[in-house]
Amino acid sequence: METQQLIVKFRSKGYKVTPQRLAICEFVLSSKDHPTADRIHQELKKKYPTMSLATVYQTLHILSEIGLLQELGFTYTTSRYDPDTSPHIHIICKKCGKIQDYKSESIERLWAQVVEELKIKPIGQRLDIYRYCDQCQKSEN
Ligand SMILES: [Zn+2]
Ligand SMILES: [Zn+2]
Repeated sequence: METQQLIVKFRSKGYKVTPQRLAICEFVLSSKDHPTADRIHQELKKKYPTMSLATVYQTLHILSEIGLLQELGFTYTTSRYDPDTSPHIHIICKKCGKIQDYKSESIERLWAQVVEELKIKPIGQRLDIYRYCDQCQKSEN
């Protein structure tokens, strides 16, 4: 998404766009590894030493509210954030927390079929598969 579009979206919801908020948006919307708020904070504090973790959370919530970000909450660990809001499967390592995306036509077909059967208009979805990743499996042995 273009910065200008992002600013328009923020303002349409009554939110101000600050350089810190923009930096958070840019970072998380281009991320591929489903970062935690902490990691985003650690990364951006290098450039914005005054940035607070609260600002990170606030911005992530705004992005979720305007539909650009999916928060993946877990009962056993902190939330992760995903800029890809289309139907895809998360392959999650229960030990190290690594999250990989799996996208395929079969998921899209199944998803379209389920939505049709339910006759609903979904506003989000989440498909998780848990496992131990190759590395964690190796370290177990
Ligand atoms: Zn692992
Ligand atoms: Zn994902």
